[in-house]
Amino acid sequence: MKVNNVELVISAVKPEQYPGEGLPEFALAGRSNVGKSSFINKMINRKSMARTSSKPGKTQTLNYYKIEDALYFVDVPGYGYARVSKGEREKWGQMIETYFTSREELCAVLLIVDLRHPPTKDDVMMYDFLKHYELPCIVIATKADKIPRGKWEAHKKVIKKNLDLVKGDEIIIFSSETAEGKDNVWNALRKWM
Ligand code: GDP
Repeated sequence: MKVNNVELVISAVKPEQYPGEGLPEFALAGRSNVGKSSFINKMINRKSMARTSSKPGKTQTLNYYKIEDALYFVDVPGYGYARVSKGEREKWGQMIETYFTSREELCAVLLIVDLRHPPTKDDVMMYDFLKHYELPCIVIATKADKIPRGKWEAHKKVIKKNLDLVKGDEIIIFSSETAEGKDNVWNALRKWM
């Protein structure tokens, strides 16, 4: 998809604030610092529109990016940041649980992981959580430019095994540096719209 128009429509904390037009939505989840903002920016051809919203002290919101009046990317605050208080973590959990369990427009969740490393405990928990609610998931294994191409498939296999990926969910190798995988992601999204 050729993206020219993107607008941050709302930073929502509760369902009453979610947009009302019924456009298809794709949520983006990933642990802090995994490369989620870079992924979004690369997909929408922007340098720094999506900012890291997951740092402690920042308001935890669901950021709705409207793309070409056709779909939304919903940036979910990152997880697994050690310095977040228990209270904040609970608030985060409630907000995303409400969103993931009740949002009819949600087509699939893009789970961003690091291709270089096996998924973390938090990554596995998030994937299990998505499967518990039977949400389709596309795993984006990013930072591919940081390892040699010849190792990609082996690393992909480790991710698949450790997440215990279910049939129907796919892993797409990505790099925000080189745009590797960008077309594959758009093609995958199209299938769910
Ligand atoms: P977020 O916290 O998940 O939103 O992570 P960011 O998008 O802010 O990325 C964290 C760090 O990883 C930044 O220094 C990025 O420049 C770097 N990064 C993100 N994606 C890639 C990638 O595909 N390749 C490389 N080499 N670095 C990346």
